[in-house]
Amino acid sequence: MTLRIGVIGTGAIGRDHARRINHVLGGAKIVALSDVNKASAEAVKKDIAPDAVIYDTGEALIAASDVDAVLVTSWGATHEQYVLAAIAAGKPCFCEKPLATTAEGARRIVDAEVEHGKRLVQVGFMRRYDSGYVALKQAVDTRIGAPIIVHAAHRNPAVPEQYVTPMAIHDTLIHEIDVFRWLLDDDYISARVLFPRSAARSHAKLKDPQIVILETARGTIINVEVFVNCHYGYDIQCEVVGEDGIARLPEPMAIQMRLGAKLQNDILTDWKDRFIASYDVELQDFIHAAAKGTASGPTSWDGYVAAITSDACVTAQEKEGQAVAINLPTRPALYN
Ligand code: NAP
Repeated sequence: MTLRIGVIGTGAIGRDHARRINHVLGGAKIVALSDVNKASAEAVKKDIAPDAVIYDTGEALIAASDVDAVLVTSWGATHEQYVLAAIAAGKPCFCEKPLATTAEGARRIVDAEVEHGKRLVQVGFMRRYDSGYVALKQAVDTRIGAPIIVHAAHRNPAVPEQYVTPMAIHDTLIHEIDVFRWLLDDDYISARVLFPRSAARSHAKLKDPQIVILETARGTIINVEVFVNCHYGYDIQCEVVGEDGIARLPEPMAIQMRLGAKLQNDILTDWKDRFIASYDVELQDFIHAAAKGTASGPTSWDGYVAAITSDACVTAQEKEGQAVAINLPTRPALYN
């Protein structure tokens, strides 16, 4: 069976996911496209999915009888309405992060899915599919003993002037927030944020870098440096200190050179290159599960917890240095 997929939002990531579904992965085909920017949908049809029908609205695409599953890759503020419509139609739905822009919105999705009684939603937290993180998790689960501390960094070469301090949480740290819950199989109980002096390349409305400290229910302390104007490259670091040893996220593969009297490895500069393979694996996982009428991977619950944690981290930015409690509601049985 070929899964017939509709894509809502054909901007940067929607176009790239359409490309991988039609040209890289197996078992699925793009049959429908929708974007408020019609020219963008038409360009994806022309370049990638010539047989796709273009719909005026995301809701019309979801309702189409030949659409089996939906990809929501539009602007974040529109995700909730489309995911809720997909659940109401009983169609599996892959939603790019964020699941919703508020915790209340993400909760509405959790409630609708629970009411439906079966998983339909996968959230686009692709780091869980990165081969480096998968190997790190295996080491954490089986080799280094119970985790005690995580040291991590999320560094980006530069961000535009519109990128303001809370975006370091909602747009950047959000991936660490999800992946560390998964890596440690633990939940957060508090967040704290410390600001060193801002780097010279930072902007007027951005305090950069910052250090976010998360504490988990089992007492593991995670410190993450978020430095989005670090200049030198796109660099994701993670080291887990356990009872018996230490495990480190592998560096991305890079040619080592002996050149000009130096031993050198290039560092990536673009997040798309760092996680390109994991996007393929996450969408193939979606296709397999959606073909069976369900969803796999990161859940609506994970999207909801990420939203609650992000909100707590933004409050912690405002209360610099103070611990902000993270109180999670009871997890519905659907997500156990
Ligand atoms: P983008 O290039 O701006 O594309 C978003 C597209 O959605 C644009 O064409 C936009 O049209 C369209 N759109 C806006 N409102 C819409 C609506 N109501 N219905 C249908 N389409 C609508 O953004 P992007 O970089 O692709 O990001 C899209 C989403 O993916 C964001 O939530 C982002 O956080 C997420 N993302 C995740 C990752 C990851 O690593 N997992 C990476 C990149 C992006 P206009 O241009 O006319 O507004």
